Amino acid sequence: MSSAIVTPIAAPIAAPVALDGIAIASQIKLELAAEVAVARAQGSTPGLAVVLVGGEAASEMYVRSKVRACTELGMYSEMHTRAGTATTEELLGLVASLNAREEIDGILIQLPLPEHVDTARLLEAVAPEKDVDGLHPMNMGRLLRGAAAEQVLAPCTPAGIMEMLRRSDIPVRGKRAVVLGRSSIVGKPVAAMLLNASATVTVCHSQTRDLVAITREAEILVAAIGRAGFVTKDMVRPGATVIDVGIHRMVTKAEVERFFPGDAARLAGLAKRGSTIVGDVDPAAFAVSGAYTPVPGGVGAMTIAMLMVNTVKAARMRRG
Ligand code: NAP
Repeated sequence: MSSAIVTPIAAPIAAPVALDGIAIASQIKLELAAEVAVARAQGSTPGLAVVLVGGEAASEMYVRSKVRACTELGMYSEMHTRAGTATTEELLGLVASLNAREEIDGILIQLPLPEHVDTARLLEAVAPEKDVDGLHPMNMGRLLRGAAAEQVLAPCTPAGIMEMLRRSDIPVRGKRAVVLGRSSIVGKPVAAMLLNASATVTVCHSQTRDLVAITREAEILVAAIGRAGFVTKDMVRPGATVIDVGIHRMVTKAEVERFFPGDAARLAGLAKRGSTIVGDVDPAAFAVSGAYTPVPGGVGAMTIAMLMVNTVKAARMRRG
């Protein structure tokens, strides 16, 4: 009897999976619309007030998208536009009036505010139970204390990251997570949320030494540093989940060709719209990951959906 010779075949290397923020956000909005319909039928439509100070084009665009999302979901919304010369006192008066109104569940102050406005004072004036941006010290404190997700209003972008991981079945418990950036809006809260989910977390910033050695250990790497294409291939542990929070608008062909060499679709997008965006991660680095969030269509797509989640949650917690 002849014995067969078995040649071992190397296990195939799985292609990196793009985590589709647009699809996940759509699913979240579908679920929310159903909850909003029930609330409306009971006569308590969730309501969001958005405050826009000054006429900065990007801020105005973001605010309009937030108001549009409310309308799509059947929620009430209103926009309060104030001139860039508005004083802190005037804005505090507006916040106080919104705090007092029963039909307003969420108050969002679009950032950044003009330099002369005391941003911290204004954010702290928002009633914590209406703080749908999750930036009030009370909500930050609850997050740090490890309050259950359904009982805390957490900042929208970090909450979106955690929701993407959860809905994509990417385990966090026990994983080595590295967060690049320590801002109050992204880096610190996402680090707290990863820690609450039992990851082992390292936070890096501009003074961190041996950055590459640290990022290469990450099974989950979150890049939120505000530098286009900063995270390169050599910084990523093969198979890691890479979350790219950065948003950088590119307007020249040279910039696009630097990050997306030979990508005809990107160049066509630039020609059509006059700009295209890249994140904090060099797109070439995604190739060594196990999963990653594309830019656009990743984390950015989740942020407004999580604002809607927070508004409905705020209504549920406050009104019962
Ligand atoms: P930020 O406030 O400017 O904070 C940047 C952080 O990165 C700081 O902690 C800084 O360290 C750190 N950093 C800068 N250079 C570094 C370097 N060379 N090595 C290591 N760390 C470095 O930024 P942010 O508001 O968190 O935003 C980060 C990015 O996310 C931006 O591109 C922003 O546009 C984007 N973003 C996207 C969304 C979304 O919805 N997708 C939402 C918010 C922000 P130091 O503290 O030491 O200065």
